[in-house]
Amino acid sequence: MDERELEAALEACEREPVHIPGAIQPHGALVAMDERLQEVRQVSANLESLLGVSPEDALVMTPEQLFTRRWFNQIHTQLDSPNRYGALIMSLRIRGRAQRFSLLPYRSGSRVVAELEPISGYPERWLFGAMADWQKDLSGYTTRDGLLRALTALVRELAGYDRVMIYRFDEDWNGSVVAESLAEGADSYLGHHFPASDIPEQVRRLYSIKRVRDIPDATAQSVPLVPASAPVDDSPLDLSRGILRAVAPIHVSYLANMGVVASMSIALHLNRRLWGLLACHGKSPNILSPALRDALRAMVQTACFQLELIQAREEAALIQRANDSREMLVDQRGEFSDWGEIVARHGTAWLKVFHAGGLVLLAGDRVATVGNVPGADSIAAIVDWLGKHHSGELAWSSRELGRTGLAEFCEPVRAAGLLAVPLPIRSPRDAWLLFFRPEKSETRIWAGNPDKAIDRQSGRLSPRQSFESWKETVRGKSALWLPVERRAATDLASDLAVLIAAGEISRLNQRLERLATSDHLTGLWNRYRMEEAIDHEISVAERYGRPCALAMFDIDHFKHFNDTWGHEAGDEVLAEVARTVSTQLRDTDHVGRWGGEEFMVLATNTAPEGAAHLAERLRAAIAALEIRDYGRVTASFGLAVHQAGEQRRELVKRADLALYAAKEGGRNRVEVSND
Ligand code: GH3
Ligand code: MG
Ligand code: MG
Repeated sequence: MDERELEAALEACEREPVHIPGAIQPHGALVAMDERLQEVRQVSANLESLLGVSPEDALVMTPEQLFTRRWFNQIHTQLDSPNRYGALIMSLRIRGRAQRFSLLPYRSGSRVVAELEPISGYPERWLFGAMADWQKDLSGYTTRDGLLRALTALVRELAGYDRVMIYRFDEDWNGSVVAESLAEGADSYLGHHFPASDIPEQVRRLYSIKRVRDIPDATAQSVPLVPASAPVDDSPLDLSRGILRAVAPIHVSYLANMGVVASMSIALHLNRRLWGLLACHGKSPNILSPALRDALRAMVQTACFQLELIQAREEAALIQRANDSREMLVDQRGEFSDWGEIVARHGTAWLKVFHAGGLVLLAGDRVATVGNVPGADSIAAIVDWLGKHHSGELAWSSRELGRTGLAEFCEPVRAAGLLAVPLPIRSPRDAWLLFFRPEKSETRIWAGNPDKAIDRQSGRLSPRQSFESWKETVRGKSALWLPVERRAATDLASDLAVLIAAGEISRLNQRLERLATSDHLTGLWNRYRMEEAIDHEISVAERYGRPCALAMFDIDHFKHFNDTWGHEAGDEVLAEVARTVSTQLRDTDHVGRWGGEEFMVLATNTAPEGAAHLAERLRAAIAALEIRDYGRVTASFGLAVHQAGEQRRELVKRADLALYAAKEGGRNRVEVSND
């Protein structure tokens, strides 16, 4: 059977009209009326044995006659009362004897239904005590497993089935048994899985309309409604809200195959979503009193509140751990000059918080990683894929990368799960926080082979013949990414975005500063920065009497050089000369490009002879330079030693004049200004 046929079979099963079976289970009776409660429209064929009135007689009576005025009025009030009491306890004289019933009235489309279950024995007052005890004990259960185990034990003790278990649904609606209580000799299903098709979609929907499904005896013959369809509004009667609804044939054989006669299930809703089922199985019929059934429902409901609390605590603990880590990050932000360091320092802690095997923080072409992650090319490909397939600001996750376009990139590192959070810093989006999760192979024990649930001939879902265990190893999946983990990762990503953006701004500032103060060709200070330095040095010289000097030099016959070798060769020479001069200087001296092929050296704390020596040394170093294929260049120097009271302009002017003199004097020499 291929995928399409399977789909078709599942759909056929989902269309199975379980809510309008046209029949009820025989342990109760049903009366359907018009919406104004003036006529009896349909009754169950077993009416006489329970109410002492034949269907033929009942169908010509008014509801008031059938139920007596007193109970009729009660039904009327109860039906639309905002306080829903559920069933009401009614007592009728039947064949001279008082008989009590639990009567559940409800509206169904344009009709009103009354379902009756006979009650025998005394009111079960002890149930209130049992419920109170359960509520008292509940807060003591702080783990999910402990709570569920206690719940199954309690239900079995009160209701006496052979097996009480809790199914939990996974994200594909497969069920697995997570807690169980067994009578002696009953088979255990703990740890077993049941395929989603066992509880098809429309049956799951019924559980949100009616939380309880009670089948006291699946082997009992169901009782048809008389007439089969209502005389006025000729449509099947919807019994979704009732308790007596007959069991679908497919479900009857399902239970028979499991060896189950009595079955009762109560839905567990957590945060308004069907989370699981409490399922009771008995080998022999078990007619529960409506009061006990209601009490069990209440106990399950309170257990659900406690489960929500346990879940909320777990989530809060995770958020707390993530927040602690974020706080640390913000506290330490001043200590990081680069976000790669952040990842190096905190990455391992994040792997623990998010149960991940590896993480990648990426912005533009910069990548920082921790743990087991794909190689750089694969990361680039993953981000590319995410950009194409996932738009928006939300996190993307998969627990089964093999089913996505990312399989080939993640397989080599055996990563089966990925949580990818875009960092809200720029567009196009090229910044991500990625968490990789390893494969978590899992052995599932199916209660029967789930593939055999479909009858190959009819193409219909049929209940499995065998519930013998059947093992399967699930591969290629990681643990599920929880919503709370996605939220925590998103918060972390926005903190990181802020840190990265702050780092970029400070780097940008540094770059702007460099741009504003340096010469792009030689990397030396530019004239503006040089002038600043000269001004500063002059003020220091004035205040502390510290001497300083300016040496201005200009490359000789550079025009000719350019003409011979080309302008680019000229550029190379300028850069080379700049490098040479820089290496010759002390840390306290500065050199800048004054313009064209003219340079300025500022020698600080230097006496006149020292300055002359420096200029001479620089001249010699330039003259000695072998510049690739182009031979040599020389430069002429003009030196001016700062004089008391002299401003920059004058000092520069004297250096310039000295340089002019050096040129006049034959070039490749140092002239000292004597003024
Ligand atoms: P001298 O200084 O020895 O008198 O002769 P010169 O040929 O060097 O004198 P001039 O000032 O006439 O020419 C300077 C030349 O320097 C002109 C220009 O082509 C060249 N020059 C100026 N700035 C640059 C530059 O950034 N790159 C290159 N390749 N050449 C430059
Ligand atoms: Mg020149
Ligand atoms: Mg010049």
